[in-house]
Amino acid sequence: MAIPFFKEMRIGGYMMKQKLLGRKRYPLVLMLEPLFRCNLACAGCGKIDYPAEILNQRLSYDDCMAAIEECGAPAVSIAGGEPLLHRDMPRIVEGFVARKKFVILCTNALLLAKKIDQYKPSPYLSWSIHLDGDQVMHDKSVCQTGVYKIAVDAIKLARSKGFRVQINCTLFEGADPEQVARFFDEMTALGIDGITVSPGYSYERAPDQNGFLNRTKTKTLFREIFKRGRGGTRIDEHDAWMAVLDLLNPGNFTGNPYSGSDNPDFFANRSGCNLIAEGFWPSVHEVPPESEIKQAEKARDSRFRYLTREALRLAAVSTKELNEFLQQWPDTHLAMDALGLSANWHTANDVRVACTNCGDAIKQGLAFHKSSVTDRICVVDPMKAYKAKAITRDEYEELTGEKLPGRRASAE
Ligand code: SF4
Repeated sequence: MAIPFFKEMRIGGYMMKQKLLGRKRYPLVLMLEPLFRCNLACAGCGKIDYPAEILNQRLSYDDCMAAIEECGAPAVSIAGGEPLLHRDMPRIVEGFVARKKFVILCTNALLLAKKIDQYKPSPYLSWSIHLDGDQVMHDKSVCQTGVYKIAVDAIKLARSKGFRVQINCTLFEGADPEQVARFFDEMTALGIDGITVSPGYSYERAPDQNGFLNRTKTKTLFREIFKRGRGGTRIDEHDAWMAVLDLLNPGNFTGNPYSGSDNPDFFANRSGCNLIAEGFWPSVHEVPPESEIKQAEKARDSRFRYLTREALRLAAVSTKELNEFLQQWPDTHLAMDALGLSANWHTANDVRVACTNCGDAIKQGLAFHKSSVTDRICVVDPMKAYKAKAITRDEYEELTGEKLPGRRASAE
């Protein structure tokens, strides 16, 4: 799913801290179920069959805050039951956001239009709308006609109010890969920030015990869906995890420079799209063949489109969030120019300085660039350039006169 860069930074920072503290196992996400009561009765649900005394229980605001303090995880996923039935949910969400926790608030969306104004858009808050497929699939899954339409309308409403929105999709026996892939394309076209998908887990309390996928069917279904990747440009989860691995193992870069996720939010892209966006096309070939150049251009354009779309969206929501985004991603200005877009914030924020090595006008903070004087890579910040794979370890050591620790046989 699409995750803001600063979220990756925070989570990555948290993981590094745990590593430095020598902790092998630590929580990443608090899975919070503050109530089991729901306003739907889905056939595959493992919660709503509990007796009334359990369905009537609620975790209090204090319980929820105590849970996150005790757990310490940087993110919390709030599920249920239906969280919007909880009277204190807006306060609970605010409490988490005030603690700078990333909140994924799951909902079946039936109450979203009524309650949305009780919540404030925040980079820390994402709605996760329950949608188990297209209209036919979802209405069948939740055993009620019309719920799909309500959920899609809720997605549009939440996006129009500046919220981050993703969907969570559970797949059951009989799911058709082509239909699911088409549904994902339709959701992506709505501009959602991500899709979480999983096979239905075999809850012994679920009313329908025949709808769950076994292990083999799950593998086959998911392979068939991913095969229809429409070019494979949305591999955000993969990018995110590979990026985390990179973060924990500096020097062990995973980047396929042409992987082409159109989301710039992940570290993996530092050696991929970011580099390509700078005008470099890293290749295993000395001269990149036409096919690789085309692939690289596609990845760059895809990233540019993402950057400009996100910046224009934030501009309509909050100047503060826009400025934070532009600080994180100054090459949004490059993307604006490349796509011929204009905005009142565009020229005002495009800070250019003279390169201290060659005198070229470059964006402030750039670690390296292709010099118009030498027609070669001009390195401003050797460590960043090395991490972005613009220079090799040997070149770094030659430039700085310093030895990098922990030389790996496979690093270069
Ligand atoms: S919406 Fe979720 S919690 Fe409610 S019945 Fe369906 S699966 Fe269960």
